[in-house]
Amino acid sequence: MKKLQAIRGMNDLLPDESGQWQYLENTLKSILQQYSYREIRFPIVESTELFKRSIGEVTDIVEKEMYTFDDRNGDSLTLRPEGTASCVRACEQHGLLYNQTQRLWYMGPMFRHERPQKGRYRQFHQLGVEVFGMTGPDIDAEVLLLSARMLRALGVADQVTLQLNSLGSSEARAAYKTALVDYLSQYREQLDEDSQRRLTSNPLRILDSKNPDTQKILDGAPVLLEHLDEASAAHFEHLKAMLTEAGVPFEVNPRLVRGLDYYGKTAFEWVTDALGAQGTVCAGGRYDGLVEQLGGKPTPAIGFGIGLERLLLLLQATGQLPEGLDRRTQVYLVAVGEVQSSAMRSAERLRDALPGLQLLAHCGGGSFKSQMKKADKSGADIALILGEDEARNGQLSLKYLREDRPQETLSLDQTIEQLRAYWPALSNL
Ligand code: ATP
Ligand code: MG
Repeated sequence: MKKLQAIRGMNDLLPDESGQWQYLENTLKSILQQYSYREIRFPIVESTELFKRSIGEVTDIVEKEMYTFDDRNGDSLTLRPEGTASCVRACEQHGLLYNQTQRLWYMGPMFRHERPQKGRYRQFHQLGVEVFGMTGPDIDAEVLLLSARMLRALGVADQVTLQLNSLGSSEARAAYKTALVDYLSQYREQLDEDSQRRLTSNPLRILDSKNPDTQKILDGAPVLLEHLDEASAAHFEHLKAMLTEAGVPFEVNPRLVRGLDYYGKTAFEWVTDALGAQGTVCAGGRYDGLVEQLGGKPTPAIGFGIGLERLLLLLQATGQLPEGLDRRTQVYLVAVGEVQSSAMRSAERLRDALPGLQLLAHCGGGSFKSQMKKADKSGADIALILGEDEARNGQLSLKYLREDRPQETLSLDQTIEQLRAYWPALSNL
């Protein structure tokens, strides 16, 4: 029989790595809490219509990356390729945007049918931040400071640069598009194939073409930042001044555009060159038009998404993961003979008294020797041994597995004291 395998580009997360993910997620969550952002959760499947209407028909995502299928009753559904559209849908549906501001976050899997490679998967995970109801630029700065603090807390601030651009108002963008298409049309034949196609479908996206010939042509192209409307230009200047004052370095990248249609004004990415081609760990910007586009009242909004796999790859590549994330068993309870119920009871009493202790209680019997082998393999520092003698006397034998110290036989209360003395941190919990 053919072995069953996970779908290509969709990864299992094994227990040896889950400590790293928990560390990453908890660090990010604690910073969101510091800024008083609140979590929102929404389904991983939505109607296909939602993504088509928000992300845009002529984007990479909608054209070729979505996992779309017909439900049993014929409705077209799609696994979410990103969170912003769903977040807006959920907020609108439940009236969260009516006359109020929202500072929100979510974390979870996203799905895109791309070619799997390092830092690019078909199921990947994003932390998303979305803020509604504020025109900025103060909130733009807050969102950027929040992302900067996350990168600092994880110890990778010196591995990333903040690239910043303004995409202007939709009118300014439309005028710029015309100028860009006029310019690029002269070189149509020299452009790469994708860019030729985009000349009519989505010309702004040509700006982030990675093709060297196209890039050379772009060097002479009109610059988006020089076509900004007055309000967007003032917004951008103000934002840059606030970031400078806050001590957050940035680079203005006039060719930075976002792959999704709904962005305007502020656009940004945190990029690293420690990860090869998949160097964008965080990307976002302002999308003042999206809520209205999806049927709500005009609502200013800004947000970003962090690719968690890429961020974790960056922590691994730069050795920024703290020691001991793979927290294992501290105490292994060995139970030899007819002592099962007594062992269970002792283990539960230890857990009552020491909620911070990682205690593994042996199940399934076996000889003293084979249980001690398992205790050693578990990584535990201490084995507690319950044999028939101990059970009769209400005692446990305590054996140190990693140091040369004599074995002791203690009452349960003494054992608790001894474990507290061995791991003083247990008393703080
Ligand atoms: P890219 O240009 O790398 O395809 P994107 O513009 O499609 O990125 P966004 O839609 O802005 O990406 O998503 C935000 C972040 O999510 C990205 O910056 C990246 O860190 C992460 N990300 C996007 N697609 C993937 C993927 N297929 N696998 C892993 N991470 C991803
Ligand atoms: Mg992409």
